[in-house]
Amino acid sequence: MLTIGVDVGGTSVRASVVDAHGRILDTRRARTPRTGQELNSAIADTVRALADRYPVAAVGLAVAGFVSEDRRIVRFAPHLDWRHVPVADELAARLDVPVLLEHDANAAAVAEQRLGAAAGAKVAALVAIGTGIGGALVLNGEVFRGAYGVAPELGHLRLVPGGRQCPCGKHGCWERYCSGTALVETATELLAAHPEETSVLAAIEPGKLTGVQVAQAAETGDSIAQLAMADLAKWLGEGLALVADVYDPEVVVIAGGVCESAHLFLGSAREHYAAAVTGAGHRPLARVRVGRWGDKAGMVGAAVLAREHVLAGEPHLA
Ligand SMILES: [Zn+2]
Repeated sequence: MLTIGVDVGGTSVRASVVDAHGRILDTRRARTPRTGQELNSAIADTVRALADRYPVAAVGLAVAGFVSEDRRIVRFAPHLDWRHVPVADELAARLDVPVLLEHDANAAAVAEQRLGAAAGAKVAALVAIGTGIGGALVLNGEVFRGAYGVAPELGHLRLVPGGRQCPCGKHGCWERYCSGTALVETATELLAAHPEETSVLAAIEPGKLTGVQVAQAAETGDSIAQLAMADLAKWLGEGLALVADVYDPEVVVIAGGVCESAHLFLGSAREHYAAAVTGAGHRPLARVRVGRWGDKAGMVGAAVLAREHVLAGEPHLA
């Protein structure tokens, strides 16, 4: 059976035909339009271009936003023009195949737990580190979504009471200390605190510095950048210890844009995690691994979920 997974992001729509082993047979992409109706059309056109060539049983959408617990409605997507839109039913009517929605971090976690870095793990967590943190949990093979479909917001666990302001309205959220955005903020603070240090980052115009630039500077031995990276590693470890205290995962998959720089922080993050978790030294530790699927994880996971729900004979998809 073939299914299509679609990654619906703020800048592009990517759709792939995926087989039962996770092999990607074909891919189409389009720019993300501004309005919700145009977006539905862009997704339908992208999917149709593939469905005309392959026998497709169902379509799964990985959406960067909140999805209703029955996975039919996008409640809210910060970067897309969808507010309480029954996206699954609208697309199913246009495409004449079952359509399933999933939060993109949940979909990515499914790809990794079924076919990737957490394959077979009974309890797996995904921590996708990019601009912020996207979190997901797979418990006994099932995506954990809470009572109302919005769990888990791992990125907004408060690690530092009274800490950095977060766009969510709180202070001290995990993602304010462990993300590409956090790298920039930490490096900027370090530059101000250590004017005696020479750093390539000091030459970059304030406001133009990016997390990628900090990572690249750390790679070349820049001391300020390396301190910023060490700070990210510490907070990654501290946050993982909180996640482990609640869920005791077998595997934690690190995903997102920072993975290319994982060799700069993952070893140190594991040490911080091992030291900070409750019962340190007297319990098995989660394996902390970089994801297999990179930026294809959400798309592949959505295709896997679509396939599983056809096989399960979900009535609302028929
Ligand atoms: Zn927050």
